[in-house]
Amino acid sequence: TGPMPKPARTRVIVVANQKGGVGKTTTAVNVAASMAGQGLRVLVVDLDPQGNASTALNVEHSEETPGVYEVLVEGARIEDLSKPCPDVDNLDVLPASIQLAGAEVELVPMVAREVRLKRALDEFLERNSEADHAYDYVFVDCPPSLGLLTVNALAAAREVMIPIQCEYYALEGLSQLIRTIDMVKDQLNPSLSLSTILLTMYDARTRLSAGVADEVRNYFGGQVLRTAIPRSVRISEAPSYQQTVITYDPSSPGSLSYLEAAREIADAATTEPAS
Ligand code: ADP
Ligand code: MG
Repeated sequence: TGPMPKPARTRVIVVANQKGGVGKTTTAVNVAASMAGQGLRVLVVDLDPQGNASTALNVEHSEETPGVYEVLVEGARIEDLSKPCPDVDNLDVLPASIQLAGAEVELVPMVAREVRLKRALDEFLERNSEADHAYDYVFVDCPPSLGLLTVNALAAAREVMIPIQCEYYALEGLSQLIRTIDMVKDQLNPSLSLSTILLTMYDARTRLSAGVADEVRNYFGGQVLRTAIPRSVRISEAPSYQQTVITYDPSSPGSLSYLEAAREIADAATTEPAS
């Protein structure tokens, strides 16, 4: 243990999987809250029109609330629209409202439609790098699709984290996701890498969970975090109180496992090859 190390530069990590319900949002908000709780400065970009990450972090995201839509479509500045999470110090959120659902279509005819988030984020991080409180981590929570929103996220990041639910069909669709990552890497963002796989909703009592975990570890090897997130009622309850499990029940196994996963991610910054 000890403090989580600060990365040498801001790490931008996209949480992606086109399957819904695998734990993307839960992972984005709880890893972010774990790091922020350890003094790292973190921004969560909610890129899902459902706004689940905004809800879990207790940040307003009604239809009238400007957020990531205005950044993508209207060129607004991230720092003008992000808001502090009221319950966790060091954690800010760029909220998503249902308006974002239209962006998938509205972006189509736009110039450089795949790199609008990248431009906004790069410019923002450039301005932010001089600030007293420069961000250590940016997590982008993706919608459950491989459309333009997810492509924008992949183009803007250096790392992808894939949560995999330890259930039947866990690996279904992964090859399509990996092809999309490779395509973005080839055509838009050569510095992108699939850095992290996180097993979620792991149930130690079932052979199924163990089987999925084995299969994922065989296939991905070192990218898979040692920590698996257990299936936990406390984790699933937290969002209905506009909380992360980290604040809702800090000593629960779910909370401790997210803290452990966050630590593994933070520790990887010190072993990452310079590029
Ligand atoms: P995604 O963002 O990939 O659609 P979510 O993070 O929203 O997935 O998770 C889907 C559902 O499963 C949510 O209701 C969430 O509260 C619940 N959930 C996520 N992780 C766990 C877990 N480890 N244990 C129990 N429920 C979980
Ligand atoms: Mg989600």
